[in-house]
Amino acid sequence: MQQRSGFDQFMDLFLLRVQAPEGHEDRPYYTTGSIVFAALVRVTIIGVITLILSERMSSDTIWYVALFAIWLVGVWPAHLQYQRFNAHVKTLQTGTLCGACRHFNPTNQLCTIMDVHVTSEAPPCEGEAWEPLQH
Ligand code: SF4
Repeated sequence: MQQRSGFDQFMDLFLLRVQAPEGHEDRPYYTTGSIVFAALVRVTIIGVITLILSERMSSDTIWYVALFAIWLVGVWPAHLQYQRFNAHVKTLQTGTLCGACRHFNPTNQLCTIMDVHVTSEAPPCEGEAWEPLQH
């Protein structure tokens, strides 16, 4: 697998890209944590820019613009990506053998007994360790 540089990984996060880069399909590239981190980085940058501008400008308008920018650039894209992330997890839960197994942890898309990520329809254990969900 081709290793991406730290800068590339940061930019993937920061830009909230919706698909993992080529060669990174064997593990979840985007997780709840990465989405929250990206949103926090964006909100922090907007906050710093707003503070700098508010020192130079004496208008309250800058704070209204900042609030709108936080929603539009920080929160909304993260919300959209989180919805896509959830849809992907739902697909795994409903369309794969692992999704119906008690060892599957949907939060991090991990098989808890094999300690590997489930990213496709093929169960990493080849079905040998499958156990039904307990309700
Ligand atoms: S035990 Fe097998 S079927 Fe169950 S989650 Fe792990 S890999 Fe999937």
